[in-house]
Amino acid sequence: MITLPQSVQTVIGTLTSAGFEAYAVGGSVRDLLLGLETKGWDLTTNATPEEILRLFPDSFYDNQFGTVGIKIRKEPKDTAAEPELQDIYEITTYRSEEGYKDHRHPDKISWGKTLTEDLSRRDFTINAIAFDGTSLIDPYGGQENLKTKRIKTVGTASDRFREDALRMLRAVRFAAKLGFTIETETAAAILENAQLITEISSERIRDEFFKILTAPHASDAMLVLKNLGLLHFILPELEIAFSTPQKSPKRHHVYDVGTHSVMALKYCPSDDAVVRLATLIHDLGKPKTYRVDPSGVITFYNHEVVGAHIAKHVSDRLRLSKKQSELLFTLIRWHQFSVDERQTDSALRRFIRRVGKENLPHILALRIGDRLGGGASETSWRLELYKKRLEEVQQQPFSVSDLAIDGNDVMNIYAVKPGPLIGKVLDAVFAQVEKGTLPNEREALLAKIEELKTSMN
Ligand code: ATP
Ligand code: MG
Repeated sequence: MITLPQSVQTVIGTLTSAGFEAYAVGGSVRDLLLGLETKGWDLTTNATPEEILRLFPDSFYDNQFGTVGIKIRKEPKDTAAEPELQDIYEITTYRSEEGYKDHRHPDKISWGKTLTEDLSRRDFTINAIAFDGTSLIDPYGGQENLKTKRIKTVGTASDRFREDALRMLRAVRFAAKLGFTIETETAAAILENAQLITEISSERIRDEFFKILTAPHASDAMLVLKNLGLLHFILPELEIAFSTPQKSPKRHHVYDVGTHSVMALKYCPSDDAVVRLATLIHDLGKPKTYRVDPSGVITFYNHEVVGAHIAKHVSDRLRLSKKQSELLFTLIRWHQFSVDERQTDSALRRFIRRVGKENLPHILALRIGDRLGGGASETSWRLELYKKRLEEVQQQPFSVSDLAIDGNDVMNIYAVKPGPLIGKVLDAVFAQVEKGTLPNEREALLAKIEELKTSMN
């Protein structure tokens, strides 16, 4: 037995008391039936947007989507809850859509007369269930598909994907999120129509692809995308990597590059879409750098440099922001970092400068995915020691600007105006701090510049 939250019942009650029909629908009903937490409520009604606006004083009309949003005060869970907390409910008037010549937008949207009409335009059976608080309206067998864990289109799959090609990626996204299987006819229709995904804007493809990357079954979904012919258009560099072997004498690898990439994603502990993408594509420089040396050993020299270059193409194709694209590039460019315990502190500092302090957890997440996805254990004493040393060297100053004194102190003590001498003194002090022969403490540093006064002046 499922129940709607009080606030949703109130919204439905307001509409039905005024003589309209109103139902919760789509993702929220699906999640409710699955016992999952839902993010926001979608409602559908035969009231027009104008009629909805009249009934809810706190509502606003989003012309682009033909949806009315209403803000409702959240039920306070405890007395300390902020009274102005609000949930937004999206109410959409019954619709019917006709003609999709461009494979992405209906040529015409008109208000539908019945709930059934509205449910018939929805993408998958599990998303086409309506609930008014008492009865479930489920003309396409959505509940049955929730039980059998199937993603199945409403109506003829091929027609539905030709209407809107993004639905093919949505099918994979829901499978990845819920751990469901794409039903046979639906899967066959994706395979047949995969090329139509090229008609969809890169931004919309990216948004779906990022949702797939961060879903619980992301790695399985990559194989589904490959088998259904979609990967070929979204990430062809990954598709070809499945034919690059890496198993050879004296090498630890057991998987081909494509399978290793997908396994790395599976084990990547980060929930950041860009970090997960970086983990997935970190080795895609390998197909281009593949060589077999005379002893039969496979090598991939400089694959991280080639891979970082490929990352730029991927960033452009998926229209990543500048910041996202820089992160992707950096993580891939430096993913081969060594954790050898014989490295000097300054080698570690160079690594931190290249990757950026804020990105260290990200590159470590990539490394964990890389290790586990290659059949190694999650960590090693070397990696643990390296992480500890990264922490330690970050406590030490990195550059002159991290010193506990600055140019003003030098000018005061030396009674001089700004000039090259200031930098020279600070550099000399910094060199000793970096070496570890002088603590980075204000008193000690002031004493040191006092001491240097005669030799520097
Ligand atoms: P999520 O939990 O990720 O928000 P959702 O099912 O709510 O999943 P939305 O994109 O928010 O997905 O869409 C809400 C509902 O609108 C869907 O459940 C579905 O019924 C319908 N819908 C959305 N996009 C499409 C589409 N491209 N074609 C047909 N119906 C769609
Ligand atoms: Mg939704």
